[in-house]
Amino acid sequence: MFKYDIVIIGAGPAGLTAGLYAGRAGLNTLILEKISLGGRVLFTEKIENFPGVGKEISSSDLIKNMEDQIRQFNNVEIVFDEVKDIDTELKKIFTLHNTYETLSIIVATGARSKKLGIKGEDEFLGRGVSYCAICDGPLYRDKEVAIVGGGDSAIKEALFLSRFCKKVNIIHRRNILRASPLLQDKLIREPNIELILNSRVLEIRGKDKMEEILIEDLTTGNSNLLKCAGIFIYVGLQPNTEFLRGKISLDEEGFILTDENMLTSREGIFACGDCRRKSLYQIITACSEGAIASNSAENYINSIKKF
Ligand code: NAP
Repeated sequence: MFKYDIVIIGAGPAGLTAGLYAGRAGLNTLILEKISLGGRVLFTEKIENFPGVGKEISSSDLIKNMEDQIRQFNNVEIVFDEVKDIDTELKKIFTLHNTYETLSIIVATGARSKKLGIKGEDEFLGRGVSYCAICDGPLYRDKEVAIVGGGDSAIKEALFLSRFCKKVNIIHRRNILRASPLLQDKLIREPNIELILNSRVLEIRGKDKMEEILIEDLTTGNSNLLKCAGIFIYVGLQPNTEFLRGKISLDEEGFILTDENMLTSREGIFACGDCRRKSLYQIITACSEGAIASNSAENYINSIKKF
């Protein structure tokens, strides 16, 4: 069986950057991606804080540019397949359709949206409940919607929805938002966004599709119903690391623990991007970690090839 130098699992900005650096280093590289290139970044419409892109760039253009850069290298292959398991000792990767052998592995599987875990959330998924305003938002044109969360994702997507929804209600459990001041500044200028603070959603109700949500005011304990056609949930990230449980060190939430060289608890296995425990979850940090992971993998490969 052909043995790759590096197999990169996941093709978001972290995995694509790792692939670019591996390509430039002349390493035989395989990138395995489950769905489509880009990952969670494609859930954002515009990117304004990536150096060198000017005022803004669409996330799809940014990813297309990254893909084009990688496609120049014949030593980098991209395969769409889902990784089910890995053998950390033998460095074998088992996907839905194949088994791959490699000298090193870079995990760049990213993260997905966390669920609220409330009544109606699963029942009305795709019928009012969404985790992606970019994907589903246009279905709610001229309608009233709710967003749950107070972080960057919630506020960014509230701003996006406010452009065409009748009203956007942001429901946040504390009285201050976690989002960056720049985003908060934009928020207060939108007349059709209302902040519902110190509150939590208890239940999503409806018949064929969702019609209303039950909200509890955490300061008074009182509950009230809010009629809305959609609810967009942005309450943080859940790392895509289930297949690594018991194989490499993860924190209590499932984020991968690495050192500053992106090395995990297992020799020859590196991790980068949103699947990693870190302090700043941004495209720029994902890319930077992808470059470091690739360089570390290259050093590791050179060290084992000497023997
Ligand atoms: P986040 O920063 O972790 O924010 C999650 C929000 O959800 C917080 O406001 C949190 O409330 C709230 N929350 C958590 N669990 C909840 C629950 N069970 N019920 C109700 N509310 C709950 O997540 P994120 O906004 O998805 O962002 C993830 C990372 O990506 C962050 O590091 C963020 O900076 C980054 N990001 C950056 C950009 C950008 O444009 N630069 C865009 C998107 C994301 P508390 O505040 O009370 O904890």
